[in-house]
Amino acid sequence: MSRVYNFSAGPAVLPEEVLREAAEEMMDYKGSGMSVMEMSHRSKVYDGIIKEAEADLRDLMNIPDNYKVLFLQGGASQQFAMIPMNLMKNKKAAYIVTGQWAKKAFQEAQNYGEAIKVASSEDETFSYIPDCSDLAIPEDADYVYICENNTIYGTKYKTLPNTKGHTLVADVSSCFLSEPVDVSKYGIIYGGVQKNIGPAGVVIVIIREDLITEDTLPGTPTMLKYKTHADADSLYNTPPAYGIYVCGKVFKWLKKMGGLGVMKERNEEKAKLLYDFLDESKMFKGTVRKEDRSLMNVPFVTGDKDLDAKFVKEAEAAGFVNLKGHRTVGGMRASIYNAMPKEGVEKLVAFMKKFEEEN
Ligand SMILES: *Cc1c(COP(=O)(O)O)cnc(C)c1O
Repeated sequence: MSRVYNFSAGPAVLPEEVLREAAEEMMDYKGSGMSVMEMSHRSKVYDGIIKEAEADLRDLMNIPDNYKVLFLQGGASQQFAMIPMNLMKNKKAAYIVTGQWAKKAFQEAQNYGEAIKVASSEDETFSYIPDCSDLAIPEDADYVYICENNTIYGTKYKTLPNTKGHTLVADVSSCFLSEPVDVSKYGIIYGGVQKNIGPAGVVIVIIREDLITEDTLPGTPTMLKYKTHADADSLYNTPPAYGIYVCGKVFKWLKKMGGLGVMKERNEEKAKLLYDFLDESKMFKGTVRKEDRSLMNVPFVTGDKDLDAKFVKEAEAAGFVNLKGHRTVGGMRASIYNAMPKEGVEKLVAFMKKFEEEN
């Protein structure tokens, strides 16, 4: 067996320990005589798995009792519609557009009401986070929407926007569980798990209870009402059962590592290795305003397309894979999620140094 250093933005690297445990339990989950994949989601054994996953997540994130945790399907993208369908009582919402995912959410919301772009960083290819301290948020806006970590562009909010008392809704797909958060500042925190938590197919929605109502937009399908899933503890229909089981294992791994405070320190250390090198390199440059740099996704360029391509190719041959940047940014992107060991980043930096010397 040989594993590469996988810098994919998602689906992405998972802790080896978790994969090994899942492999060990594949044929016979704890004496049940079957794989979790083969198990009824109504069984007692599975009930234990999903309840424990939720309890561990609550513990990790310190989720207050007046928030529900939902394990849903449809990816993060389905939330782009589900959020306005459930929250747009006044048919008005404010969107801060800091990248492609925020833009898609903004565009989707226009199908359901008046989505107002109150700030954007599109003028400079989303390379920064706009000043959100005093935005023109309409009084009757139902919520303010952000994408907290911009996976493609490598920016992250270091302070949350001043929502002027409005409900904050955040897509945290690519920074989920990368550092401690104060859940009480949000109405909804949600994310697809395939970036930093588990296998694709699960989206976790943490939602304040008062936002869960029958009063959704007319025509909202049963499956797209938060209430449907909240009332049934995420078991209204068959959930992405195996995916949730793996997420549960990652929660346990994070707890064993010391929790989100420790993860933040580790992530800061890893990101610093890479950013410090980018700042001193003559060949490689980061593409993001320094204050807004993400700890998770690090885009960089050489300024020469052919040299970028050469780097990606040689890196892959050396065991550093998925470093090609997103097509809208070009260059390279190293995603260094929780499960990327520090050693992976150290070795990547050493490889970049060597490449710079030789080219
Ligand atoms: C990947 C990603 C998405 C899209 O996720 P899907 O699960 O594929 O719909 C949305 N938002 C962010 C921030 C992402 O990184």
